[in-house]
Amino acid sequence: MKAVVYEGPRQVRVKDVPDARIERPTDVLVRITSANICGSDLHMYEGRTDFETGRWFGHENLGQVVEVGTGVDKVREGDWVVMPFNIACGHCKNCERQLTNYCLTAQPEPKLAGAAYGFADMGPYAGGQAELLRVPWGDFNCLRLGEDAEQRQTDYVMLADIFPTGYHATEMAGVRPGDQTVIYGAGPVGLMAALSATIRGASKVMVVDRHADRLRLAESIGAIAIDDSKTDPVQAVLDETMGLGADNGCECVGYQAHEPDGREQANLTMNRLVASVRFTGKIGNVGVFVPQDPGAEDELAKQGKLAFDYGMFWFKGQHIGSGQAPVKRYNRQLRDLIAAGKAEPSFIVSHELPIDRAPEAYEHFDNRDDGWTKVVLHPAM
Ligand code: NAD
Ligand code: ZN
Repeated sequence: MKAVVYEGPRQVRVKDVPDARIERPTDVLVRITSANICGSDLHMYEGRTDFETGRWFGHENLGQVVEVGTGVDKVREGDWVVMPFNIACGHCKNCERQLTNYCLTAQPEPKLAGAAYGFADMGPYAGGQAELLRVPWGDFNCLRLGEDAEQRQTDYVMLADIFPTGYHATEMAGVRPGDQTVIYGAGPVGLMAALSATIRGASKVMVVDRHADRLRLAESIGAIAIDDSKTDPVQAVLDETMGLGADNGCECVGYQAHEPDGREQANLTMNRLVASVRFTGKIGNVGVFVPQDPGAEDELAKQGKLAFDYGMFWFKGQHIGSGQAPVKRYNRQLRDLIAAGKAEPSFIVSHELPIDRAPEAYEHFDNRDDGWTKVVLHPAM
């Protein structure tokens, strides 16, 4: 089968690799028709992790079941399914508490928790930027889709990661009807957080970034765009909230936060969130801050240490939630909102490409080139 194979920093190539297959009775084999490139793939693509060459990425996957193991009861051949990026067993201490993002069984390294397809430090699992994907514990890890799945793939594939991740940011931030919410980052994740805040009834959603194309997408769903290359974003939020600050905020950038001129400064968005959110407000941080980032420009960030303004955070009595999103906790309800026509997360999709064009897609998306907001690859279509 074909897969998008990692060959070293900023190098991917479409190559023939051994076919994915059923390995355990609980496995499901899926022919992947849609697989997104994610901002999280870029950490590995840029060589910021210890992702091994020869492996392939792809944790945002949708497709049609072609085979099921003898221990699979619920999922059937022919079903259209979307897979949460978290691989989870469904019955460990964390899974039982809906913390599938920290599954203890799927992660073979005892000091770690949590697993994903095609990901550094998240277990040995192959990615879905390939024609076939093995889904472990298939009954638990496949979300079945309705009859409109094939036609609406670009909406439903967002359920694998970024729609539930954006939703999780707003859940951790405690967004309630009427709230005024600020979101740092108008990448795919930030835009999904903006959509989620709207779904939750926020009265005002403010999105900070400096890419005009991404800010326009935020405006297209009714958010207020704040361009931090033109204005002080903290002051802009205070001006929009009668000087009080937003009720809550979402961090959707992570350690690659930078100034509009390109200088990386990992603590920039956290400091600005602390300043933009009101006293006692909550912050949901889904942007990734990981240790040992050899690509980081700032020494502390390189070790995963984030020196943000904790003093002011404490003084204001704010709260923060962090970590990978437990996709399974939200994706059934979000699926049903899509099916009912009440959410259309595909508004962020800029490109749908055959898998052979993955190398150029990675290059453009990594450069944040104008108009490259979200790429959906179609490996087996
Ligand atoms: P992305 O890189 O496309 O988007 C990031 C956006 O942040 C860009 O548009 C960039 O211009 C903007 N930005 C950079 N510095 C900024 C600043 N100082 N202020 C405001 N905006 C700034 O990536 P993405 O796909 O949207 O992902 C965002 C983050 O979420 C990444 O760290 C990714 O790894 C992470 N992520 C986390 C989870 C999870 O489960 N927690 C899941 C998916 C992605
Ligand atoms: Zn992702």
